[in-house]
Amino acid sequence: MAGPLLDGETAVVTGGASGIGRAIARTFAAEGADVVVADVRADPREGDVPTHELIERETDAAATYVDCDVTDRADLVAAADAADEFGGVTVMVNNAGIFRSVDFLDITESEFDRMFAINVKGTFFGAQVAAERMLESGDDGAIVNLSSVAGFRGSGSHAHYCASKGAVRLLTYSLADAFGAEGIRTNAIHPGVVETTMTTDDVPIVGSEDGDRYKDPVPAGRWGKPQDVADAALYLASDMAGYVNGESLVVDGGRISTN
Ligand code: NAD
Repeated sequence: MAGPLLDGETAVVTGGASGIGRAIARTFAAEGADVVVADVRADPREGDVPTHELIERETDAAATYVDCDVTDRADLVAAADAADEFGGVTVMVNNAGIFRSVDFLDITESEFDRMFAINVKGTFFGAQVAAERMLESGDDGAIVNLSSVAGFRGSGSHAHYCASKGAVRLLTYSLADAFGAEGIRTNAIHPGVVETTMTTDDVPIVGSEDGDRYKDPVPAGRWGKPQDVADAALYLASDMAGYVNGESLVVDGGRISTN
């Protein structure tokens, strides 16, 4: 396949200010897509230049930031409107998410609701708004949802996160069924532990003494990097994955298939 993989596409990346979403946004732009970064913050959690500014510096792609809380459907509509300025959304990446570690009996109702509002309802709204626009335009589209290996495996220390990511997996399969015949492919990515602020600060795994119990069984012998996930997202968003729909792509260095 010659040429940039996402030439002529317009991508909305939720949570694109930081971490994995930032790597996805930059990778997509480098492959020719115009990008809308939809996030509750413009500056990356890890510091540095806002993603949309970096993209405009690094590439010929157009990029913009939209203040978007994925728990509010109107904010996702605003993100899709911003994509209209670039020709309309053709690739939707539902990446915004939170991860918390709380023992099962200590998870409060508000913690449970917050987890599901961002990880599940946010993904649902993002997919619904994107599918509406894609159907209206009549163009083919791709939706990529960020689940996790936690969408396959339970854990007593983050049951609400696992449940939310399991829901994202089944939402993905449902979208594949709902829109596959309309040329809209929906797939999920299931990363293992990836080095971002989520795993250094929110739930300190990377760099913590306790972290080795997660890393030791990884055949790759290292943590994942945001770019590992961005490369998987690029594949699923592009025509390279033209016959891939309703798939769960695990990006975890071999962890869950070997342990
Ligand atoms: P991160 O914390 O580095 O970045 C998350 C981004 O999402 C931030 O920019 C944050 O501002 C944004 N965000 C949070 N709540 C939002 C909301 N309500 N609306 C819009 N944006 C919001 O996290 P990350 O590690 O890059 O994770 C990205 C996705 O990948 C998440 O869905 C996460 O669950 C998933 N994931 C991460 C890992 C990992 O190890 N880092 C592993 C598996 C899955």
